[in-house]
Amino acid sequence: MARVYNFSAGPSMLPEKVLKQAQAELMEYGTSGQSIMEMSHRSPEFMAVAADTEARIRRVLNVPDNYKVGFFQGGATQQFAMVPLNFMTTGKADYLVTGNFSNLAAKEAAKFGQVNIVANSKDKNFTYIPDVHAIEYDKDASYIHICQNNTIFGTTFVDVPQVEGIPLVADMSSCICSKPVDVTRYGCIYFGVQKNIAPAGMAVAIIREDLLGKSAKGLTPEQIPTMMNYTTILNKDSMYNTPNCWNIYMTGLVMKYLEEDIGGLANMQKINEAKAKVLYDYLDSQTFFVNSVEHKYRSMMNVTFTSPNPDMDKKFCAEAAKAGFVNLKGHRLVGGMRASIYNAMPSEGVDKLVQFMEDFRKANA
Ligand SMILES: *Cc1c(COP(=O)(O)O)cnc(C)c1O
Repeated sequence: MARVYNFSAGPSMLPEKVLKQAQAELMEYGTSGQSIMEMSHRSPEFMAVAADTEARIRRVLNVPDNYKVGFFQGGATQQFAMVPLNFMTTGKADYLVTGNFSNLAAKEAAKFGQVNIVANSKDKNFTYIPDVHAIEYDKDASYIHICQNNTIFGTTFVDVPQVEGIPLVADMSSCICSKPVDVTRYGCIYFGVQKNIAPAGMAVAIIREDLLGKSAKGLTPEQIPTMMNYTTILNKDSMYNTPNCWNIYMTGLVMKYLEEDIGGLANMQKINEAKAKVLYDYLDSQTFFVNSVEHKYRSMMNVTFTSPNPDMDKKFCAEAAKAGFVNLKGHRLVGGMRASIYNAMPSEGVDKLVQFMEDFRKANA
C-alpha cells in the first residue's frame, strides 16, 4: 500500500488514524455483531453514535445551547435552496459574491425572492474579499449570506458582516474546523462535510433557534418540501427519514480525533497556519510560481498558483502526480494549480510539495 499526498479540493484526505478505526470497526461495531452500514438508524447503538457525533460537534465548535445542529443530505448545494426557503421571510436577502459557490447560492436564492448582490469581487477575478464594513446592507434583508472560504479561488473572509437584527448565514464547507469560530456571530452556519471533515454526501447546519419555524415570503412552513424544511428535520433529530448513517459515524470519528488527538481547534489552527505559511512563503520567495490573491485574504485551506504558462501547468501536474502529489490541477474556472491543504494533510505533505516545486522550478525555469 502506498498512500499519496492528496491535494484534492474535495472529497479529500481523512486522518489515517480515523480510516484505521473505521477499518477496524467495519465488520462489527462494538459488540453489535453488525457493521454501522448494516445497522438500523433507530437501533440504540446507532442512536448513540448520532448523539455522540452531535455532542462532539457542539464541543469542538463551541456551539451555544440556543443553536440546533442537524445532518442533511444533498450536500452544501442543497443548502443553497434550503436557506432561502426557510429564512427569506421578508422576500429579500443580501448576498456577497466572492467566488463560484457564493454565486451559485445567490442564483438559487433568486428562485425564491429578491436577491441583492451587495458586493462582488468579480472585477478582479475573485482575488480579494470586499470590505464588509463599506457595504450598504438592505435594512429589510432577511439575512446576509457569505461563503466564508472560497474553495476555487483560494480566498477567505478576515472579518464578517455584522448587522444588528439581520442574521449572517455562512457557507463554511471548505474551512469548517480549520480554526475556532465564534458561532454567536452567525444565524446559520452550514457546510458540506467532504472538504475538511468526512466523506461526501452530507451537510451539517448549525442554526440559531429563533430562525426556525418560518418560511420564505409567500410560502407557509408546511409548503416547504419536507426534506428541505430545517424545522421538520431538526424536530426529528435529523431522522425524519433514514439519514446518512455512515457519514454521521465518520463525522463523529473525525470530531473525536480533533478533540482527543489534536486537542481542539486552537491547536488545529496553529498546525494549519504553519502548513500554509510554508507554502505561501515559498510562493513569495521566487517568481516562477505565482499566487495572485491579495495577501490579507489568502486562504489557509486552498492555495492557488500558476506557473509561467498553461503548458507548464500541465507538465507540473503530471510530474507531481508521478511523484505522489495528486489532484493539484486548479479548478476548470481558474486554471493553474490548487493545493488544498485541509486539516488532514500532514505537514510533511506540504514540506515535500514545496521541495518538489523548487526542484521543478530549477529544471524548468
Ligand atoms: C464544495 C463546496 C460546495 C458544494 O458542495 P456539495 O456538497 O458538492 O454540494 C459548496 N460550497 C463550498 C464553499 C464548497 O467548497
